[in-house]
Amino acid sequence: RKMDNQTHKSLEEAAKRLKLEKEDRFKVVPELREVSRQQYLERREQDKLAELEQEVLDEEYLWQGVKLTEYERKRLEQKKKTLEIARQYKEADVLEKAERYYMPDEKADPKKTKDKYSEDIKEKGANFEHQKWEEEHLNAALLHFGSKDAKEKFKKDKDYDYVLDDEITFVKSLRMPGKNEKKNKNYESDLEEEAQTRAKKSIEETRKSLPIYAYRQDLLDAISQHQVIIIEGETGSGKTTQITQYLCEDGYTKINGEKKKIGCTQPRRVAAMSVAARVAQEMGVKLGTDVGYSIRFEDCTSDRTVIKYMTDGMLLREFLNEPDLESYSVLIIDEAHERTLHTDILFGLVKDIARFRSDLKLLISSATMDCEKFSDFFDGAPIFRIPGRRFPVDIFYTKQPEADYLQAVVVTVFQIHISQPLGDILVFLTGQEEIEACSEMITEKSRKLGKKIKELIVLPIYSNLPSDMQIKIFEPTPLNARKVILATNIAETSLTIDGIIYVIDPGFCKQKTYNARTGMESLIVTPISKASANQRAGRAGRVSPGKCFRLYTVSAYEKELDDNSIPEIQRTNLGNVVLLLKSLGINDLVHFDYIDPPPHETLIMALEQLYALGALNHKAELTKLGRRMAEFPVDPMLSKTLIASEKYKCSEEILTICSMLSVNNAIFYRPKDKIIHADAARQNFYNPAGDHITLLNIYKQWEDTSFSTQWCFENFIQHRSMKRARDVRDQLASLMERVEIDLVSCVDDSVAIRKAITAGFFYHSAKLSKTGSYKTTKHQQTVHIHPNSCLFESLPRWVVYYELVFTSKEYMRQIIEIENDWLVEVAPHYYNAKN
Ligand code: ADP
Ligand code: MG
Repeated sequence: RKMDNQTHKSLEEAAKRLKLEKEDRFKVVPELREVSRQQYLERREQDKLAELEQEVLDEEYLWQGVKLTEYERKRLEQKKKTLEIARQYKEADVLEKAERYYMPDEKADPKKTKDKYSEDIKEKGANFEHQKWEEEHLNAALLHFGSKDAKEKFKKDKDYDYVLDDEITFVKSLRMPGKNEKKNKNYESDLEEEAQTRAKKSIEETRKSLPIYAYRQDLLDAISQHQVIIIEGETGSGKTTQITQYLCEDGYTKINGEKKKIGCTQPRRVAAMSVAARVAQEMGVKLGTDVGYSIRFEDCTSDRTVIKYMTDGMLLREFLNEPDLESYSVLIIDEAHERTLHTDILFGLVKDIARFRSDLKLLISSATMDCEKFSDFFDGAPIFRIPGRRFPVDIFYTKQPEADYLQAVVVTVFQIHISQPLGDILVFLTGQEEIEACSEMITEKSRKLGKKIKELIVLPIYSNLPSDMQIKIFEPTPLNARKVILATNIAETSLTIDGIIYVIDPGFCKQKTYNARTGMESLIVTPISKASANQRAGRAGRVSPGKCFRLYTVSAYEKELDDNSIPEIQRTNLGNVVLLLKSLGINDLVHFDYIDPPPHETLIMALEQLYALGALNHKAELTKLGRRMAEFPVDPMLSKTLIASEKYKCSEEILTICSMLSVNNAIFYRPKDKIIHADAARQNFYNPAGDHITLLNIYKQWEDTSFSTQWCFENFIQHRSMKRARDVRDQLASLMERVEIDLVSCVDDSVAIRKAITAGFFYHSAKLSKTGSYKTTKHQQTVHIHPNSCLFESLPRWVVYYELVFTSKEYMRQIIEIENDWLVEVAPHYYNAKN
């Protein structure tokens, strides 16, 4: 763009004026002092919108008559688009009694923070709020993130719009303080140094450099003095990998000449595997020998194993075979703050056994959250704090809401990559599909940019990721390159990845929600809690001061995020756990020692369902069938199906189907450039009886090729998932043996197979309605056939589905066609009693 000096000057002046006006707008706050909090919040909201409107007008005025470059035009357009979205948001936004934004203090205890805040209000009066707001805004440096560098670049490089054809304006907010950081550090040079020394450091040196190391003896002393201890420490301080080793070194694996295990639970399978692998490496032993792990369908331990990492669900199941957990000398319930269903149930059980096993040590370990609550639950157990180190993290919010957060992630990644010093980026996404999509977008864009940018290494991490791929995220970043790790919640506290300096947080996670009234359970993408958001931000400050980019506005943080996540026990189906507790002889589930009780209706619903499945009798006592069902680490509906396969003489087929269902979402892949081929390949397997039979077909054909990788490749099937299905099948087969069900085949008798499935899933039956949608038999909910189902176009009268997923509608996924009268046949006591 050619511009003479004169125009340039007047533009500059206009810009200055604009800036002044903006500052003026902030200074009118004193007059607001009189209005109530509510009005004030509304006012502020309007101001924000007005500000944005003004900005668009200003810009249009400013650029009048000037020929815009493609880049500038796009930017203006985007601003207008955002304004439109903001207006819509504004309309939709009900101004509720909003919590004021407040950065957590050192202790990062959201409850305390809130109290402190209300105290502040009490103490300093209502004006405090305005002052705070004013301060915040006056300090808020408007950061056109990346644009300064980029604009300079623009002068030299005509390709600028090509490099950054999009950008997001971030507003810098408060700084999350660091903890125990070394003073007067020259971070940038330190960073490189750290990266280099880290690569060279021996394992011994690395272990000694962890924050927990300084407290090794104190911790061991405390453990020897107390039976139960709560351990609180910043993520990455060494809790998970070190404590087990300290205990082992201190003799806890051999008590009075007898071999004892140290058990450590993790809410996530990936964490259990990866941490065990790390500890085995640190101890210089082969994984599966002295150090092992156990997750569902995969046991990597041996008779030698003394340090055992496992998912919380697996420890729960160990109670079935060893009710007092005699073989353990120490149990560590790790990641307690995650409050998964299984961890919550474990709390009650381990508290109970600790009473009569005075020799058992119990450690409850957690990130910096909720520790007082755990201490209260465990009769005032002492809290051992490991003062972690963390560098300050600058927090940025988007100035406007982002409509498409995946797109926004990609834009932000490149903004960081182009304008910020090297250092790895951690992005929080909600699940595998999203991670794969995002990874593709970033890779594609980076390929297009080619040599114009430094190398970007995109690495995914989620729970189904095969272990050889998991290892990659821990490999040091090559010189002159930057890693972008796309992770689920797993990287929030369970896994520590070194070298992260930038965190991108879209503010969502996938959460199970359960409606006890309708019995519907679905995975829904939900806004995270403030506690989560702050944990995520903290990940940027482990090796040096970091930056966290939140892809939402300050006001969204304030108003839309809850303080804490709701524990899983209060939002999930309890069928599985109730069956397990009943098998452990715990009959009174209402008065079980819950740290937070489940909703009453949810308990009732679980009991009712187990009764309908025949696992409980009318007095809610475990039946013989129920006892057999409890042997399987799967949902009661699936275990009932497995057991019903005996009656319908199709156990081979049902075994295959159940294994395939356990990996069902990851079987096909659809490469972008071959979608048509992939879909055609999938349709080749379709069977008119339904999706379960389709899955069976796939497995059988694969088996016929002697489990060929090539065959998978040709049919657009993920070999890894198939291998996993095969492993799961082996595991389930040995459990079938345990409950004495012979493996027999019905040779393609689809009726037998479908009846066995119906015997387990009659709760999930639905009937076609006149409108072409379906109504569930139990609750008359409207549901639809998932477009990926092979029955999508045939609309059978009666169907049974495996699960419901909620996207734009409530969809049934994995469906078979059934006959109405099968329902009475498979569950006579339930349907006869009802009618
Ligand atoms: P905490 O449980 O307190 O969050 P951890 O014990 O998980 O801490 O982590 C301590 C250190 O061990 C971290 O610096 C982390 O980077 C390192 N670490 C953990 N797992 C692995 C792994 N699989 N590979 C390499 N390093 C690891
Ligand atoms: Mg840990």
